[in-house]
Amino acid sequence: LTRLYTPMTALANARVDVMTALVSFERVFEVLDLDPMIRERPDPLPLPDGPVSVALRDVRFGYPSAEQVSLASLEEVAVLDQRPSEEVLHGVDLEVGAGQLLALVGSSGAGKSTIASLVPRLYDVDSGAVTLSGVDVRDLAFADLRGAVGVVTQDGHLFHSSIAENLRYAKPDATDAEIVEALRRARLGELFESLPDGLDTVVGERGYRLSGGERQRLTIARLLLARPRVVILDEATAHLDSESESAVQEALVEALSGRTAIVIAHRLSTVRRADTIAVVEHGRVVESGTHEELIAAGGRYAVLHRTQFAQQPDPDPPHDGIECG
Ligand code: ADP
Ligand code: MG
Repeated sequence: LTRLYTPMTALANARVDVMTALVSFERVFEVLDLDPMIRERPDPLPLPDGPVSVALRDVRFGYPSAEQVSLASLEEVAVLDQRPSEEVLHGVDLEVGAGQLLALVGSSGAGKSTIASLVPRLYDVDSGAVTLSGVDVRDLAFADLRGAVGVVTQDGHLFHSSIAENLRYAKPDATDAEIVEALRRARLGELFESLPDGLDTVVGERGYRLSGGERQRLTIARLLLARPRVVILDEATAHLDSESESAVQEALVEALSGRTAIVIAHRLSTVRRADTIAVVEHGRVVESGTHEELIAAGGRYAVLHRTQFAQQPDPDPPHDGIECG
């Protein structure tokens, strides 16, 4: 196990270094992600207007090693493929129609978060493709991708920058009033009032210390502000206490309505009303269908439903807390 974790720690450290180097106040909008291997093509294709569909086609993916990442930052791309990383996704096919809701369920470590991270192109696939309305995400301009896809994860990733800049990341022309409104809807109104420099308070690495729940609510505020056409919620309310959870949940349901969405390990009520539920195990989609179809099929989902979801009172529990595996 120790051997397994060492490369991941190294990678995490490499990413922090890269981030510190790249993300200064002026450059925050230029950086799509921390991975220097992700590059914007010089002649990007436009993303069609209107609701967006999302598809993964036979996607294979392994996390790049720390060595690969640091070499890429030195532009020594030729050396990159010497040591293949361990494959995490082994040919994933998924489709979310425009305006539809896809729920991903499955055991911890199955690959759900990895799938979610490929849609905003935090990493590039090793083979296959991720498309938005039929356009490969590698062909899109960073600004279009960033504006179209909003992600709330468990960790609530923030840039070392002011609150205002962190929120404007996905909507550069947002007014201060819009930002304050988004903070209030994410239940951060009180925190905001207590901050030393208001919207200019610097958060993120070495910045003003926020709790896990506050960080998560800041990324939720970012989502509420930007109203992206594709919403990805990866255990989006994992760090919230039950009181703010139910308030934030309302705002999230609103943010989801009419949007294309991928939701991971959310409430039973969300999973159940998903247009499609996909069960992910060991880097593969092993089963998909509606709640009724999958219960009737009596397969993996039916077991998950019985063992995990069944502990939640039905229909709409006051507290989330489910980890579908
Ligand atoms: P889930 O979200 O379903 O719990 P993940 O997508 O987080 O699963 O993880 C899938 C696999 O990828 C696991 O084996 C996990 O250890 C590995 N993994 C996740 N994140 C990283 C990372 N940043 N670097 C290397 N391996 C990772
Ligand atoms: Mg996960």
